[in-house]
Amino acid sequence: MSKLKEVSSLSAVSTLRADESAGKPSIKTANEAFVPQTTHELLRIVRAAQPIPRVAVARRLGVHRRRITVLVRPLIDSGVLREGVPERSAGRGVGRPPIGLSLRSDKDFLVGVNVGVSQIHMGAATVDGKILNEERFPTATDPQVAADEIRAAIERLSKRMTDRSLAVVGMSVVGPTDAERSKLLYAPHLGWRDIPLAKMLKLDVPVLVENNATAAAIYESQRRRSQSATKTAGDFVVVRGGTGIGVGLVLGGEAFRGTSGADIAGEFGHMTIVAGGKACACGNFGCWEKYASAASAVELYTGDSQRAKMRDKLRFTDLVGRAMAGERRAQVTLERVGTHLGIGIGNVICGLGVSNVVLSGELVHGWKFIETSARAAVAMSMAGRLSRWSLEPGDMHGADLGGALEVAIEHYLLSVVGRTKRAA
Ligand SMILES: [Zn+2]
Repeated sequence: MSKLKEVSSLSAVSTLRADESAGKPSIKTANEAFVPQTTHELLRIVRAAQPIPRVAVARRLGVHRRRITVLVRPLIDSGVLREGVPERSAGRGVGRPPIGLSLRSDKDFLVGVNVGVSQIHMGAATVDGKILNEERFPTATDPQVAADEIRAAIERLSKRMTDRSLAVVGMSVVGPTDAERSKLLYAPHLGWRDIPLAKMLKLDVPVLVENNATAAAIYESQRRRSQSATKTAGDFVVVRGGTGIGVGLVLGGEAFRGTSGADIAGEFGHMTIVAGGKACACGNFGCWEKYASAASAVELYTGDSQRAKMRDKLRFTDLVGRAMAGERRAQVTLERVGTHLGIGIGNVICGLGVSNVVLSGELVHGWKFIETSARAAVAMSMAGRLSRWSLEPGDMHGADLGGALEVAIEHYLLSVVGRTKRAA
């Protein structure tokens, strides 16, 4: 475990986090606020498009190239960024333009932990997200046992990283988390309440506990930065359908976690869409996720009678496989799930006023059969009639380990900004 304890260089992060979690927008002069935010966005852009020439970074950030020189110098000096030069010109150097900037990923590593209802998926990765080692094991019913198993797995992963130090652990969990992102507040499907997961891991590095839909939203933001040369990831909603349904919100490229003190945002999975409907694990009846999640699709398919025995064995991907093979019952099931999904998405668009929606989680596997009925239901809603809207499938990885790692990477980049600011 010595390797885990070595890393104290991220202490600057706690200062930064304390400011953030106070929830009150501090009044800064334009210039003070400009440097860290721009540096943070610069690091995200480099990560999304590395190796990227300075001129391209300047264009995407909308700042002058001379400004990039000022921003980049401390990042190169402190070993956060490196700048490649063409191999052939290594001897001559002068006069040849550098190839571009990239994150230095040879010193530290991050751990992502996706705590699912049935399975925990963990991975160690470089600071730019390249996965080096992975582990999966069933989620223990007792949260203390689960935390001990996660800690043991982190020790195993760390032992395999002989030349790197653990910097941050990012976790994605199946329920809302507190504003400090240290606790899982409630996970109906696991029966867990007020679980201080970050503390339970007993690590000397920052541990961030994030709602899995928000983690998927952070992942999709970064994916958008990689795919297009626009400045930010824009505004969009992620609807993550797995055992339940979670909604993550991104505004101006940043994940929205609710206003200060709310501790809850995007819990649309438990909005009622059928009065007096099916009983939900949360205690309510007729929740959206009882009709439009991947688990509810399996329930709908197996029904209440003889097929119910299959329920424990049949996974959502098996159901999709049957639909692919032409089985009508499986196809109709997915179409019905698509209708309920679209009804809820129409409500989400109306309620939030954000009309670009990305579908994430296991449901993405069934997109081919879900798409038409989901689109028809959104089109029928007031949102569909009054505004332009989009619905597209996201990347499955973001709903799993990818999202958890993205939470860790975002925190790592912020910590780098904090360190560079202190050094300056
Ligand atoms: Zn519910």
